[in-house]
Amino acid sequence: MILNPKTIVISGPSGVGKGTIIKEILKERSDIKVAISATTRAKRDYEVDGEDYYFLAEDTFNAMAESSSFLEWCVVHGNKYGTMENEVKRLMNEGSHVILEIDVQGAKKVMEAKSDSLNVISIFLEPPSVSILSSRLKLRNTETDEERENRLKVAVAEIKEKDRYDYIVVNNEKKVAASEIMSIINGFE
Ligand code: 5GP
Repeated sequence: MILNPKTIVISGPSGVGKGTIIKEILKERSDIKVAISATTRAKRDYEVDGEDYYFLAEDTFNAMAESSSFLEWCVVHGNKYGTMENEVKRLMNEGSHVILEIDVQGAKKVMEAKSDSLNVISIFLEPPSVSILSSRLKLRNTETDEERENRLKVAVAEIKEKDRYDYIVVNNEKKVAASEIMSIINGFE
């Protein structure tokens, strides 16, 4: 049980490896949890509703947005994604640090909210280069060529925002990046 839980925003371009690195961190630390987001995006075959995301119909998502259920929500690559405030609060009350794996626009909103109760630490995960990011997206193969090109353009703009974050971690090798993030977290304990 952590006495002073933090909200750890981990953001960075699509395909940079946020999900993989977070899995590495969760393997090492049972007192760190990820807040499951809500999305209107269609579920991918390998995803599980309630584990990867809460996959919601547009109407349900909109109703939640109107009733201020989200700490932040954004349209990312044409779909809506939102961080559920009650999920974050619940995990913090249980004494866990809470990771928000969110896009750059959402991270900006959380950082600007400057909420004392959230104890935000923001980390930008940077690809070693845009061409390496492009290869990783190709390998993942979850987008069409056009979508991938679009994601890369967005990535170039997002990387320009990295100095807004408390920390920048380059994802060259997932275990190294994960251990750098754990050292950052340890520094606050
Ligand atoms: P994907 O569809 O590939 O799972 O995620 C697309 C992007 O949406 C990723 O950059 C991911 O970090 C981001 N994302 C996931 N959940 C949230 C959320 O709750 N809020 C925001 N703003 N972005 C999110």
